[in-house]
Amino acid sequence: MTAKDAAPGHHGPTLAEARGYTLIDCRACGFAHVVPLPDPEALARAYREAYYSQEKPDALAHQTEDRAWLDLVHGERAALLAEHLGGARGKRILDVGCGGGFFLDACRRAGFAVHGVEPARQAAAHARDVLGLAVTEGFLDDVAAAALPRFDAVHAAEVLEHLPDPAGMLRRIHGLLAPGGLLLVSLPNDGNPLQAAAERALALPPWWLAPPHHLNYFTPASIAALLARQGFQVLEAQASFPMELFLLMGDNYVGDPALGRACQAKRKAFELAMDAAGLSGLKTRLYQALAGLGIGRTVVTLARRVAHPRRPGQAGTAMEE
Ligand SMILES: [Zn+2]
Repeated sequence: MTAKDAAPGHHGPTLAEARGYTLIDCRACGFAHVVPLPDPEALARAYREAYYSQEKPDALAHQTEDRAWLDLVHGERAALLAEHLGGARGKRILDVGCGGGFFLDACRRAGFAVHGVEPARQAAAHARDVLGLAVTEGFLDDVAAAALPRFDAVHAAEVLEHLPDPAGMLRRIHGLLAPGGLLLVSLPNDGNPLQAAAERALALPPWWLAPPHHLNYFTPASIAALLARQGFQVLEAQASFPMELFLLMGDNYVGDPALGRACQAKRKAFELAMDAAGLSGLKTRLYQALAGLGIGRTVVTLARRVAHPRRPGQAGTAMEE
């Protein structure tokens, strides 16, 4: 069976293969994703029940341990949104895939009214019971979206790469945003040049290819294009620290979670030291430049909801709603 037979309508050159999945640069979707796309019902069950207990058993503990650094990262994101919204007071933020609620907690401290949506039971319970946040437990499907008010900003971090239909999620988010509202979307920057260099230098397989949990593989350019097609005008993009530098300097953390945590500790130390030195603005400009080069472990894109998705000529223009 060819990749095309397994996923009717999806077609494009093969980029990589792993675990019975083929990564294609899909011409129909405009971004790379694996085929075959797994059964949505089976995926939904896995995220509700097993994701935090089996796939990411240490995630909540690590996030609690990383709290000072996470508060810095989340506080900067909240400040960026407040800056573009003319302040936080009276503004509403929705976090799609809010996990344990750490980002929303930072937004609440910044003065925003906050709400989360989270399918994973353990993470939703942490957000609700430990942090005292308002959380819709489940997926942001059409039924859940219809029950929510409109928001001034939506945050979706490490969400779109998991979904069989990321364009459908962006349509729902578009419908939940007030006119001119903001979307902040964070995604792994996979297949980036430093990963390719590390594969070559350390004779690694494409370790970043992680189906069935990661289905979609965006570049800064392909997420910007998808956002434009769904009625969003990209305002800016920032990378996060290029963790692959550790691989290229000899710390092979692939398949070595303890070394991975040690590398992560160095990255946190760097960012906290820059903040303590009053150089967070310089760090932001560095990370904006890295996004422009297509480098960095994740890419965080800020976009504004504009009217009339799919209006001809809209993509890439600086048109305000
Ligand atoms: Zn496709």
